[in-house]
Amino acid sequence: MSEIKTQLVVLGAGPGGYSAAFRAADLGIEAVIVDARETLGGVCLNVGCIPSKALLHVAKVIDDAKEMAAHGVTFGEPKIDLDKVRGWKDSVVSQLTKGLSGMSKMRKVKHVQGYGKFTGSNTLEVDGPDGKTVITFDNAIIAAGSEPVSLPFIPKDDARVIDSTGALEMADIPGKMLVLGGGIIGLEMGTVYRALGSQIDVVEFLDQLVPAADKDVVKIYQKFIKDKFNVMLETKVTGVEAKKDGLYVTFEGKQAPAEAVRYDKVLVAVGRRPNGKLIDAEKAGVHVDERGFINVDKQLRTNVAHIFAIGDVIGQPMLAHKAVHEGHVAAEVISGMKHYFDPKCIPSVAYTDPEMAWVGITEKEAKEQGLKVESASFPWAASGRAIASGRTEGMTKLIFDKDSHRILGGAIVGINAGEMLGEIGLAIEMGADAEDIALTIHAHPTLNESIGLAAEMYEGSITDLP
Ligand code: FAD
Repeated sequence: MSEIKTQLVVLGAGPGGYSAAFRAADLGIEAVIVDARETLGGVCLNVGCIPSKALLHVAKVIDDAKEMAAHGVTFGEPKIDLDKVRGWKDSVVSQLTKGLSGMSKMRKVKHVQGYGKFTGSNTLEVDGPDGKTVITFDNAIIAAGSEPVSLPFIPKDDARVIDSTGALEMADIPGKMLVLGGGIIGLEMGTVYRALGSQIDVVEFLDQLVPAADKDVVKIYQKFIKDKFNVMLETKVTGVEAKKDGLYVTFEGKQAPAEAVRYDKVLVAVGRRPNGKLIDAEKAGVHVDERGFINVDKQLRTNVAHIFAIGDVIGQPMLAHKAVHEGHVAAEVISGMKHYFDPKCIPSVAYTDPEMAWVGITEKEAKEQGLKVESASFPWAASGRAIASGRTEGMTKLIFDKDSHRILGGAIVGINAGEMLGEIGLAIEMGADAEDIALTIHAHPTLNESIGLAAEMYEGSITDLP
């Protein structure tokens, strides 16, 4: 058994954990980072954001090549070498995890590999491949993340039932796959497998895909993918029976097929559960709620003053960039700064085809909060760049406060929507109003131009000088 004494221990090396440890080290705090994985990067780099985007890149190139036929250029049928596709994805992940390891060494942040659990208010015990390590700390940041939710009525030990991690492994390309859950992760993986040749059904309990997103944006997305995925809304899975020749799934609800449907694989993508209950937090006196979330204040402090928590383990939205910013704040507070986490907005992006991206308030949320808002939209059917790219299905929508005309939210559907969203987020953070955005000269012809044009469409955005 080895022993380490440190100023700061960070439990979990995902985007939240490594950002916190690096910021702390930059501020002169001695930091140790603990993770069960061999590599840094957590879910996001190893089995989340990054490998999924590497595969989505492959899917996009296949789809783009097919689309070119309509513009007079025909390529042959794609030949998929799954080992090489997997190799590409793995090389992207390893490039980034190696980079993190280098940055960690440069900052003298020690990585202890193993599963960590609190044994007291200032001690953590790590069970790793090299035995046990007891870490005594002055401060701790819990960045233990989350794991996929499984459903009790679905066979667990059948390799044909997979979660997002299993889907990213790309063991094969199933002939027919059911994506159970119409959220971002399920749709992204469905996009990948469809491009590689699978037939995809998506089942969603609610009345729209990606329920948190702007409904107009989702409507356009749903229309665009109508012929690509078989989507069953307001429908739920009631059972999955594993037979030799496939998984037989029964459904109930509005669009439920009358008979059980046979699938080669079922991807369960019904959300993620925080890991708060798995770390013996109570031994450190840290309160964890019944779902596994840890409550924190605006400085990311738990109910125990020297223990902080960040990222997926503290709640929605479960997104990497939220975790990163929280990690920075927690480290800064530990170093003595009076910082706190209080963003006006956190962007969300579904890297589907087309992409859906939204930031700030949606009209539904404005209604729930009793806010008076108005919106203005610019359809991409009138965008020169969208037309020249053969992708006119998009739309850019901005949501303004009715009285002040300040921008409160925005949503985009279309190619590159995720890249475009940053401008709207910045406008919200800076308190810009419709006129500021309309008067900002956007380069022509760009898709970003549609943000300025949507603002121009908003009545009252062009005013005279006082
Ligand atoms: P995590 O990244 O979950 O990392 C937690 C780490 O803690 C893990 O490495 C785990 O091994 C370790 N750990 C937990 N408990 C212990 C313990 N007791 N001892 C030792 N180690 C422990 N988000 C985006 O913003 N954009 C995307 O495009 C995106 N795509 C995604 C795609 C997929 C398929 C998935 C699954 C997720 C995606 N996410 C995306 C979500 C994103 O991955 C998470 O929000 C993010 O990783 C959360 O970061 P975190 O620091 O809270 O923890």
